[in-house]
Amino acid sequence: MAAIIELRGLSKHYSKTIIGVDDVSLSVEDGEFVTLLGPSGCGKSTLLRMIGGFEEPTQGTIHLAGRDVTWEPPYRREVNMVFQDYALFPHMTVGQNIAYGLKMAGADRKSARAKALEALELVGLPDKVDQRPDQLSGGQRQRIALARAIVRRPKVLLLDEPLSALDARMRDQMRIELKHLHEKVGITFIMVTHDQEEALTMSDRIVVMENGRVAQDGQPQDIYDRPISPYVANFIGTTNFLPATVTDVQADRATFNCAGARLEVLTDTPPQSGARVTLGFRPEKTRLLAEGETAPNMLEGKISEVIYYGLGLRTAITLPDGGSLFIDTLLTDTLRRSAIPKTGAPARAAVEPCNIFVFAGEVQA
Ligand code: ADP
Ligand code: MG
Repeated sequence: MAAIIELRGLSKHYSKTIIGVDDVSLSVEDGEFVTLLGPSGCGKSTLLRMIGGFEEPTQGTIHLAGRDVTWEPPYRREVNMVFQDYALFPHMTVGQNIAYGLKMAGADRKSARAKALEALELVGLPDKVDQRPDQLSGGQRQRIALARAIVRRPKVLLLDEPLSALDARMRDQMRIELKHLHEKVGITFIMVTHDQEEALTMSDRIVVMENGRVAQDGQPQDIYDRPISPYVANFIGTTNFLPATVTDVQADRATFNCAGARLEVLTDTPPQSGARVTLGFRPEKTRLLAEGETAPNMLEGKISEVIYYGLGLRTAITLPDGGSLFIDTLLTDTLRRSAIPKTGAPARAAVEPCNIFVFAGEVQA
């Protein structure tokens, strides 16, 4: 597939000290759903605004469908942007809001209304065409904004935190609808969010950003299962971090001393013997052992807290060296009836060698 967007060495330095985006190179394929993910202030909106033409880069180039658009104004790019607050005209009907851009571009009234209706159809609201925005719910307004953004079939749709103004339930529903809309229209979507769950559920590809740069770029599952750094491991999902020392190295694995235990880890790039590293592993890939049970790759400690969250339990364990870790256990019917862990009790946890990440150096968890 051809790249629809090609960013090369793109930077936006607002001043010597304020760096919005720093040397980002990124290629997006036609029809992809790519999410820019990261905490507030990491440069997501700046990057999106540069693609849209609302912000000028201080360095680098932007190609759209093979054409250099770096210095083109927004209306000369086949890109449209959906803003967080929807920015609908309050005095116009839904149909007029959607048809507005078409009319500005010279479409006649009849064909503009037909296209507006078609776009409304795509977002599931054809019966709202003659209502005003203030007669609609937040979720409906959001869908109108989407219909307006796609009505002229841009090559790329840019979405900056499109779901952040919605309440939790509506947000969950809109996630799915936005994904379906993407599948139906086949336009390339680039979405900005700080919500990892949103990124994981909706995207073909996630670009994790850190201080204006790309920290990791990959498919959701890749990033989740193979985070490249503690930053990524901690931003997407939860990760237990424990300091460890390498005691033995083989071709595809290494052994570590960690909190008084011996842990084996499968890794393609084993560190040097004697090195001090940080091991990371997911709470849901950690198993709480039954009383008296032992297993390879086992850590021993004491239960410091048990948190119930409906689907399951999060158990916190304090290790003899003062470190701590979380274990997530799904509540099956068996577990509901029997062994709910008790605070203060001794506990053992086990992690498979393939489920442990090795990061160089020491990490502040
Ligand atoms: P995000 O969308 O990830 O929260 P932004 O792209 O909005 O991040 O901001 C990245 C950095 O650039 C932040 O440090 C922010 O304060 C700064 N920044 C954003 N817009 C401007 C601006 N117009 N002028 C100066 N600094 C800005
Ligand atoms: Mg932002």
